[in-house]
Amino acid sequence: MTATDLDDGPLEAVRFIGLRPGPRLIVTGAVHGNEPCGPAAIRRAIEECRTGTIRILRGEVTFLPVTNPKAFRQKTREGDRNLNRDLRERPLPGDFEDRIGNPICALLRQHDALLDIHSFRQEGEPFVFFGPANNRGALEPFARAEEELALAACLGVSTAIHGWLDNYARLLDIRARLPVPRLNVTEGYGTTEFMRFCGGYAVTLECGQHDDPRAADVGYAAIRNTLAQLQLVDAPLPPPALRDVIEMVEVLLCETEGDRAEAGWRTGDAVRAGAVLARRADGAKVTAPSDGYIIFPNVAPRLGEAICHFGVASSRRIAG
Ligand SMILES: [Zn+2]
Repeated sequence: MTATDLDDGPLEAVRFIGLRPGPRLIVTGAVHGNEPCGPAAIRRAIEECRTGTIRILRGEVTFLPVTNPKAFRQKTREGDRNLNRDLRERPLPGDFEDRIGNPICALLRQHDALLDIHSFRQEGEPFVFFGPANNRGALEPFARAEEELALAACLGVSTAIHGWLDNYARLLDIRARLPVPRLNVTEGYGTTEFMRFCGGYAVTLECGQHDDPRAADVGYAAIRNTLAQLQLVDAPLPPPALRDVIEMVEVLLCETEGDRAEAGWRTGDAVRAGAVLARRADGAKVTAPSDGYIIFPNVAPRLGEAICHFGVASSRRIAG
């Protein structure tokens, strides 16, 4: 533990408690420190709750503008490591993210729903990640899929993606063949996975590029829509904005230095079967196995990292 680590923090959480019963929502920003849209959107919402522009009537909302203070101070994605990986409670914390993970997990446990606000590095349209269908499996058992998809659909973005943890398990299977350190599947568990583990439901909103000022507006609109969707405020239900629902079904890994995504792709781009997604270091093309979508293309991955994820049109839709 360093003195600087102790200087980072404290975590600031601001809670508004309605006087009538309702769901308990938590909104988090800057889980990654180089993503300023979350803190900006959340601070605007806090101010409007204080002035009465937003009136919380039912349930509770807790705002956590800066979830990772060390990374935020440094303006880096990570403090000591990625807070959105292997997030859990640790009786003997090792690094900074371990230490803040304990109070963050305790906060998540106090809530029903999580809106986690992020941004991304490459160009692309905003989108939302949501979780698995209802299931009793071992990886991520879940029973609140309808509420979660309805939350994803209300935010105001037109693309939603699911299948992260299953695809992460595929990534680890390929990675196990490579000369890189083995990772446990628990590495794939971040804020939303921990929230589902606690019996809640959760979405990750990706608002746009890190320094695009419009990203904070996307985040702010999503907060307002979520407050309306959960009826913490008196407001009409937001109209569902989802157009494309994508299931991640495959991942390409950098298996030799020099493997890379084909330039020009953006997350959520539709691809035709046979389109060139990536090139191996020896020049061999990797093509789309079917019509689908490319997700998180990386033109400079390191050995064992994803070159890109591949998704297909999902059968999951909002009920009704
Ligand atoms: Zn992020």
